[in-house]
Amino acid sequence: TPGRKTPGQGGIRVVARFRPVNADETAHDGAVCVDFPSDSSAELAIGKRTQSFSFARVFPPHTSQAGVYDSVGAPLLDPLFSGVNVAVVAYGQTGAGKTHTMWGAPAAPDAAGIIPRLLAEVFDRSAADALPDGTTATLSASYIEIYREVVHDLLAPRESAPKAGLRLVTGTTGVVVPDGATSRSVAAIDDIMSLMDEGNSRRSVAAHKQNAQSSRSHAVFILNLTLHNAHDASTTSSGLYLVDLAGSEKVSKTEVAGLQLQEAKTINKSLLALGNVIAALSSSARKGGKGGKRHVPYRDSKLTRLLSACFGGNSLTTLIICCSSAAYNATETLSTLRFGDRSAKI
Ligand code: ADP
Ligand code: MG
Repeated sequence: TPGRKTPGQGGIRVVARFRPVNADETAHDGAVCVDFPSDSSAELAIGKRTQSFSFARVFPPHTSQAGVYDSVGAPLLDPLFSGVNVAVVAYGQTGAGKTHTMWGAPAAPDAAGIIPRLLAEVFDRSAADALPDGTTATLSASYIEIYREVVHDLLAPRESAPKAGLRLVTGTTGVVVPDGATSRSVAAIDDIMSLMDEGNSRRSVAAHKQNAQSSRSHAVFILNLTLHNAHDASTTSSGLYLVDLAGSEKVSKTEVAGLQLQEAKTINKSLLALGNVIAALSSSARKGGKGGKRHVPYRDSKLTRLLSACFGGNSLTTLIICCSSAAYNATETLSTLRFGDRSAKI
């Protein structure tokens, strides 16, 4: 299909980011297992083999936050302001750099991740003097968490929330929304930061493993943008979905022991479904639409339902595959790259 990957016509762009070797890995000999033959490929040495992977872009360990933003975040602004639903999704094992890539250290200019950089630009472009004459923008944000297939509103006290979590409902525009989720009007980056602090303080903590805080849940930040045109009274709406996924590593035996079997099974259901949705889309795309109307299992998980508006036509999703570059984590890195590889075939 010509132009399939053009912004605004639907498409998934997969990039991979490798973080530097950390102290823990250095203590385990610190060897590096990846090579970067070009800016779109990575070679992973594992055991006696070398495996090559190619993505739209590959960011080696020294890549700056600004460098990642320029390639991944900045190109989303024009589509977003023309009514396209846009998503950035970070995938990878715990400690691979998902939160660093998405949020970073927002207060330190060099260390700020994609979200603070992107939202700062969205606010700039939404200012009255930056918009065409007669156009005004309304911005509102929601911040939710998906934990064991239950959707929690991170902007409301947990005590007052329904035990079963928020329902996902299809709104009038066909976009799936978490029913009753708090929607806060936002006007500046400071609003986002306080909202994020408030939300993060409510994220699910795995009681049996303190430092596993939030690595088992998916955090989804949603910014809704509506542009009102005073001349013809029309409005254009789009959503920006920023997703910091749960760690992709398998639930460890010690953790499973602390959970009911049913609970352990639901933990990665959304990640599994995400992979299946992308694979289904990619197999349809490979068949060029001819007999390729394969069923896309959006309904298999909360995450894929919530993001369904970001996968079809008039949408643009960037999947960032986050990996360690250390040999010590090569097995997890291989499985992460394979997930990305399956997705990149779209
Ligand atoms: P995740 O969210 O995937 O569990 P984090 O983003 O929290 O992982 O990263 C784990 C640690 O590694 C953090 O201390 C983070 O600051 C650091 N880190 C991650 N990516 C990078 C990077 N590209 N450069 C430098 N430090 C990084
Ligand atoms: Mg994290």
